[in-house]
Amino acid sequence: MSIQSNTSTLILADKLIDGKGGSAIEDAGVLLFGPIIKAIGTRSDFDGLANDKVTVLKFTGKTIMPGMVDTHTHHTGFGDGRSGDDLVELPNEVLVLQAAKNARAALYSGVTSARENGAKDYTTFKLRQAIQEGITEGPRLVLCGPPISTIGGHLGYFGGEVTGQTEARAMVRRHVKEGADYIKITATGGTTKTSFPWLSSLNVDELTAITDEAHKFGKLTATHCLSTQGIINSLDANVDMIIHCIFNNPDGSSDFRKDVAERIGEQGAYINPTLHVLKSRIWALLKTQESRTLTPQEKLDLDDRKRFYDIRLEHCHKLIEMGLKIVTGSDSSWGDYKLGNTPYETEALVDAGFSPMEGIVSVTSEAANSIGIGEKVGIIEAGKEADIIIVDGDPSKDIKALWNVENVFKSGRELDRGSESSRDRSRQYPPPPLP
Ligand SMILES: [Zn+2]
Repeated sequence: MSIQSNTSTLILADKLIDGKGGSAIEDAGVLLFGPIIKAIGTRSDFDGLANDKVTVLKFTGKTIMPGMVDTHTHHTGFGDGRSGDDLVELPNEVLVLQAAKNARAALYSGVTSARENGAKDYTTFKLRQAIQEGITEGPRLVLCGPPISTIGGHLGYFGGEVTGQTEARAMVRRHVKEGADYIKITATGGTTKTSFPWLSSLNVDELTAITDEAHKFGKLTATHCLSTQGIINSLDANVDMIIHCIFNNPDGSSDFRKDVAERIGEQGAYINPTLHVLKSRIWALLKTQESRTLTPQEKLDLDDRKRFYDIRLEHCHKLIEMGLKIVTGSDSSWGDYKLGNTPYETEALVDAGFSPMEGIVSVTSEAANSIGIGEKVGIIEAGKEADIIIVDGDPSKDIKALWNVENVFKSGRELDRGSESSRDRSRQYPPPPLP
């Protein structure tokens, strides 16, 4: 290989994982030219490179991999137990500041791209503007604006309530006008107090109007689905991603529906299971239990959630066995799960049956493909944006190595991520093991 360059950076490390799922390259190098990846190969491929024109960075014992792509974030959230019902009470200016804090934590943890899954009004669009203006730092953002919902439906108070096909189409057009990259829809209720978690919300004609209008503009769609009927309605409407993908009946009981899962596969829709956000609530309750006795309601909640987590893990295992397209999307900062902790969701997918390498794919190339940015990022390959992280250890052997991010490059620029202790403040730890 012969490489010509002007102002280039050569990154050398023990291993390179390109994000496509094949085995790691040993003794590897990546050549960057400005914001773009110019070439990848083994160290010897770059032997002849003129040293005075190339900055060489050597990382012994480390792995080069693509920056993580989190397909499901809530940048205005807190991850301290506050719900959407609490967030909507805060002024937009405060929400944008919180979003900036979260964006920095996510980027510094190694998440170089994130798909925002819905916030009040167009607050996250202001965050993106602030990032573009250089006021704050954050991942490259894929934005939706307020999730489209029924009156009183899940997250409807963020500004996306519609009734009927005409209003549904109008809301999509408004979001597109404001700069939305995709359209998020709540096909069932959720944690929103006035919604009904296990019942579908928008009707199929409304859902179809939304996806049809979005697809007309070349925009992807994703539906929040806490029930089987919500999944079925979304598939009828030809949605591109099923979020949560919970197989619940109207009474809250769970039954895995292989026929519905097969339909997801036939239609080629992606699935974002969001396992850890449930576990984070369990962790929060266990931590509370360390300091005081739980109320009877909390105790019930803890037992329910533990039971439900096992069901969710088992259902996700089945989806993995069926070979469906499953991606990492953390759902942080929602509930008790803080942004900056994306690897927990990938770990949960590995617990559900992914190999560590499949876990990596779910948080790099497949994640990028699922949110429409796979042409640009998610793999390390000549011509792609140089969104790269350097990790201590080998995450294809042990997925927990995703926590050991030592350097982050966004568009070829190495970030100053502040002190380790400041980064550690964004980290959430599991509760201590019970005696
Ligand atoms: Zn969410």
